[in-house]
This record gives sequence, structure tokens and C-alpha cells, in this order.
Amino acid sequence: MARVLIVGAGLTGSLCAALLRKETPRPVHLAVWDEAGDSGGRMATARSPCNSQSTVDLGAQYITCTPHYAKKHQRFYDELLARGILKPLTSPIEGMVMKEGDCNFVAPQGLSSVIKHYLEESGAEVHCRRRVTQINLRNDKWEVSREAGPPEQFDIVVLTMPVPQILQLRGDITNLISECQRQQLKSVSYSSRYALGLFYEAGTKIDVPWAGQYITSNPCVRFISIDNKKRNIESPGVGPSLVVHTTVPFGVTHLEHSTEDVQELIFQQLESILPGLPQPVATKCQKWRYSQIDFWEPLPLSFASGYKRIS
Ligand SMILES: Cc1cc2nc3c(=O)[nH]c(=O)nc-3n(C[C@H](O)[C@H](O)[C@H](O)COP(=O)(O)OP(=O)(O)OC[C@H]3O[C@@H](n4cnc5c(N)ncnc54)[C@H](O)[C@@H]3O)c2cc1C
Repeated sequence: MARVLIVGAGLTGSLCAALLRKETPRPVHLAVWDEAGDSGGRMATARSPCNSQSTVDLGAQYITCTPHYAKKHQRFYDELLARGILKPLTSPIEGMVMKEGDCNFVAPQGLSSVIKHYLEESGAEVHCRRRVTQINLRNDKWEVSREAGPPEQFDIVVLTMPVPQILQLRGDITNLISECQRQQLKSVSYSSRYALGLFYEAGTKIDVPWAGQYITSNPCVRFISIDNKKRNIESPGVGPSLVVHTTVPFGVTHLEHSTEDVQELIFQQLESILPGLPQPVATKCQKWRYSQIDFWEPLPLSFASGYKRIS
């Protein structure tokens, strides 16, 4: 049986695993490795240590389906909506730019539930806290080394992490990429920002007329969401949760600062925007070093041609 490794348990890796399971004619052994402590990637959902029902989306906030993707990916949206994993976004997000024909969706259980759904469908063996460091060719197999533990061999390896993290890999994989391709890959640049999740006690009121707001006048804060309100899951036994995304300039400037210091700075700015905000019972500060792509050059087609058929 062919052994396939997918590196990265985010949306790309999980959907890739589910599609491979569904569409390959013969049985394959599927493994997904991720360096993080849980699946989700940039669609991570954090849980309050005080109440596991209180959650916050730290990365992506909602999924925008444009008319183009509605046509192309209708079956994916239909399935996720039928299962209740996605629901239309109906709460007000101030400052959101809506283009004609776009639909926005939220995940009531947090966006990582989309990833968990695809991983479950794939039946893949999922291993978190496995950071891939090297990929070498040994006797016609890919030998994948990780930070801790013995290397393992696979017939096929699919890399789904952000481009700079692919370029950090060592071993024979570096020879697969020509100098020209490497330069083009290096030109893919990502923005950096922080996310701060705040969890509150049950019964806490955050009295604002919106569920989310884009901020344009603060050097630190770009977006605030009352996350449970955004997802329409207000419940008397579970306190509200709030997430703040910083601006990119703030993220870049503070990239190497301690998380504690950064958290304090974000908190101060948040209080100036929402004075009188109650004290949270728990917080989670996440650095997104590779947040969203802000520049890329199209790759030559030949880069995608080195595939191997699973037969
Ligand atoms: C703050 C923020 C806000 C966003 N807002 C939105 C939004 O509102 N709507 C939207 O549609 N999109 C949004 N996005 C973008 C969206 O989250 C991403 O496009 C999407 O989640 C990318 O999924 P992915 O699987 O391709 O990559 P990722 O989710 O980054 O998955 C890659 C995985 O690879 C793992 N990895 C990396 N290196 C290694 C290694 N060496 N070994 C093992 N594992 C490794 C990482 O831990 C990660 O889990 C946002 C992103 C951020 C950060």
C-alpha cells in the first residue's frame, strides 16, 4: 500500500487528505504531521482553560464565498452547510467590505471544526508536535526526518505549509527546486500580525452594537470580534470571548518581542478603544509570523509537474 505523508494539518492539508481518501482508486496509508499542538493551522480555534465550551477563532474569522468559488466549490460549501459546520454570517461586522454576490460563512464550533471534519473523513493518522526538518531520497522513497524521533519513509510527500517554511527544509528536497524557482518562491511575501483571544466569565456583558469591527484609526488594533456573537452561539452558561487582530505594522515591529509584552500592549490599546472592558479570566496570544500572502509572482508550470501517480 502506498504511504502518503501530508505535512501541515491546516485547511489545505486536511482537505487534501480527505480528497486523496475519496478519489484514489486503491487504498493508501495516509499520515498528516503538524508541528503545532493541534490541527487547524491558520484556522486555529483556542479554548478557554476555564471552560472548554468558550472558544475563539485566532486566525481566519469567516469564509468568503465569491460567485466564482460558489460555482467551482459548491459541493464543498453544500456539504459543510448541510452538516452545520458552516452557517451564514448574519451578525453585523462594521467596516466589512462586501462585494456583490459574495456570501460569508462562520463556523459555530470555531473554524478549526472544518479542519477536524476533513481529517476525520480522511481517516488519516494525525500526529501533532511533529516538525519536519529534512526530506531525503533513499532507495526510491522519501525519508522524512523530524525534530525528535526516528525518520520515516513515504512514497509521496505533500507539503502544505507557508512557502518560507518549505524553503527552510533541508536535504535532497532542496535540489528539486531550481535556482529560478527558489527566487520566485522567495519573492512570496507574507504579512505578520498578532491575535489576542480573551475569555470572560459567564454572565459578563460586552455592550457593543456589533459582533465585529474593523478599526482604521489605531496603530495596533485592526480588527475586534466578540467571537461568540459573530458565530451566534450566545449561551447563558458560557462567557463571551473576544479576539483582537493587530495591524501588520504592529505585528512586524513586535515580531521578536516577548508574547507577554505584546499582549500587554494590545490590551492597553484595546482598553482605549473599548473603555471599561471587564477583566478576562483567561487569554491566549498568538503570533502569526506568516499570516496572509501579500505578494507573489506566478510560478512556472514546470514546478507542478514532478508528481507521481498512485496506481
Ligand atoms: C490572522 C489571520 C486572519 C485571517 N483571516 C481570514 C479570513 O477571515 N478568511 C479567510 O478565508 N482566510 C483568512 N486567513 C487566511 C487563512 O487562515 C489561510 O489562508 C488558511 O488557513 C491557510 O491554510 P493552509 O492549510 O494552506 O495553511 P496553514 O493553515 O498555515 O497550515 C500549514 C500547517 O503547516 C504546519 N507546519 C509548518 N511548518 C511545518 C513543519 N516544518 N513541519 C510540520 N508542520 C509544519 C503549521 O503548523 C500549519 O498548521 C487569515 C489568516 C490569519 C493568520
